[in-house]
Amino acid sequence: MPERHSTLEPSAAEPSAAEPSAAEPPQALPEQPATTPPSPPERFLKGQLHVHSSGSYDAEEPPEAILRFYAERGYDFVAISDHNHVTKPSEVPDGMLWVPAVELTQNAASCTPGPPPGYRCLFHTGGLFLADTAPRHVRLPYRPARFAAYQQQLEWTAAHGGLSVIYHPSFHFAADARLLTRLAREGGARLFEVSNAALDGQHPAGPARAEQRSEALWDAVLGAGVTLYGVATDDAHHFSQAKARARSGRAVYGGDKGYVRVRAEPSLGSLRRALAAGDFYASTGVELSRLTVSAERVTFDIHGGTAPWSTRFVGAGGRLLHEQQGASASYEPRGDEGYVRAVVTDAKGLRAWIQPVFLAEAAAATP
Ligand SMILES: [Zn+2]
Repeated sequence: MPERHSTLEPSAAEPSAAEPSAAEPPQALPEQPATTPPSPPERFLKGQLHVHSSGSYDAEEPPEAILRFYAERGYDFVAISDHNHVTKPSEVPDGMLWVPAVELTQNAASCTPGPPPGYRCLFHTGGLFLADTAPRHVRLPYRPARFAAYQQQLEWTAAHGGLSVIYHPSFHFAADARLLTRLAREGGARLFEVSNAALDGQHPAGPARAEQRSEALWDAVLGAGVTLYGVATDDAHHFSQAKARARSGRAVYGGDKGYVRVRAEPSLGSLRRALAAGDFYASTGVELSRLTVSAERVTFDIHGGTAPWSTRFVGAGGRLLHEQQGASASYEPRGDEGYVRAVVTDAKGLRAWIQPVFLAEAAAATP
């Protein structure tokens, strides 16, 4: 497993025209002395990897309005992931990157193995960073077997230069631990949704259990020695429709709830490389800085959300290695944990998920 080492500085601390601070009016920056040029801060870009526009059968918002919505909230990049359709916005706000994408979608009543009673077979993956940006429908043949259905989607995305994300694997129990492990090991999947703001709250089994399932799935895959990184997304469907839907008692899947923070330059190539390498964290509102993830140390400072924060460091099998309160957290692996990942929870239940680092020698020594 490649060891990753990254030190991230928060873009939230940088002046941002798109994200005005309510507390402090923008001020002119002092001129830097020419003799001590500061090294440029590493970028920490905010992005949305799952959102639906009028290009989906179950959403209405124009893609241009969605990009404006996210630009106004400090996002640097957005993948509009419509169901079996590549949607191309006619306009992209200054400073925003549009990621050409699709949500490959196979919905059926039956599949093998079959779903639990009352559930369906909903196999969805994101195909992000597609090479061909032309708007178009994407139709893949129906595959009854779960693995084959997913595998076909991963292969399509790879063949079109894209990067796959296994979307909402817990929804309708689409992918269990065994299937997800196989998709990561044999199918080349590197990313999955550890958090989906729309469906984690709407899953029939309840939000807490859905989230626990996602983390348990993750630990099962990682525990098998297979690399998999977790993203948080909105899966938003409702923007200007949200108020009317809420008034009439219908579910609202809104925006700006779950996102990724990626250490990358503001280009599609750089973002894609960093996501595939796990050089990012996932969040539902907790912000981090000075993030270092290596086999020697996992450490970071915590900024966003509401104090007090609690950090759990997790090892193989979901084992709790260390729990810590406060605005910074640090863990030095002993070497026998298999891997180390971390999750921060604030006072209101908002979270940040730090990507796992494998401890190579220890993994080999584990019986
Ligand atoms: Zn979906």
